[in-house]
Amino acid sequence: MVDATKTKKVVSSSNTRKKTVSRSRYSKAEIYEIFATFEKDNPEPEGELNHSNEFTLLVAVVLSAQATDAGVNKATKHLFQIADTPEKMVALGEDKIREEIRTIGLYKNKAKNTFLLSQMLIEHHGGQVPQTREELEALPGVGRKTANVVLNIAFGQPTIAVDTHLFRIANRIGLAPGKTPLDVEKKLEKVIPPEFMQHAHHWLILHGRYICKARKPACDRCIIYDLCKSKEKILKGTN
Ligand code: SF4
Repeated sequence: MVDATKTKKVVSSSNTRKKTVSRSRYSKAEIYEIFATFEKDNPEPEGELNHSNEFTLLVAVVLSAQATDAGVNKATKHLFQIADTPEKMVALGEDKIREEIRTIGLYKNKAKNTFLLSQMLIEHHGGQVPQTREELEALPGVGRKTANVVLNIAFGQPTIAVDTHLFRIANRIGLAPGKTPLDVEKKLEKVIPPEFMQHAHHWLILHGRYICKARKPACDRCIIYDLCKSKEKILKGTN
């Protein structure tokens, strides 16, 4: 027979553990200080994907899935010279787009998506990049993360695009622990002070790319070292 008291205790203890694991390890004041530090260091952070307008930004972000920004920039340098609008991209055709981006991983599928999304922009949006998440996510190759990047950079919306760097940092330092990117995105939206929302994802991406790296964080060069509560924090001087 199941002991109801014991069962209740287990459930309750598991719930408590869940709550503890999912909460930010930082107080409001500490989170404010983290982002104030990022802002002081880099007041106007920018993405590293080259683009000349909203359309080329959208294409660059679609191409950047599972690829480095540097690799995408190399491939799009010529592509964007000859096709910087949906009309020119459609005129170029899928085969030629594929040739242009063949150095990027998954290039066949990405060429197809680039062609199809250009067609859709012409047919449904008058050749313009739409400004809502729903419309963006309806385009081929565009998921939530891509839509968030475009909404943030092209249209100045305070969105948080959770890529591999944000997901790692949010969990590693306990800023917004979560099991899925969406979970982390929702938690970051809750804990980041509104005045820092616009640039937050850029600061965190750059921090993850160059300092709080996946294999070995460069803690000795970290500007939030004193605030960081990560168990993976490496004591200064021992890096
Ligand atoms: S101190 Fe180390 S672990 Fe903490 S945020 Fe900085 S680089 Fe990452």
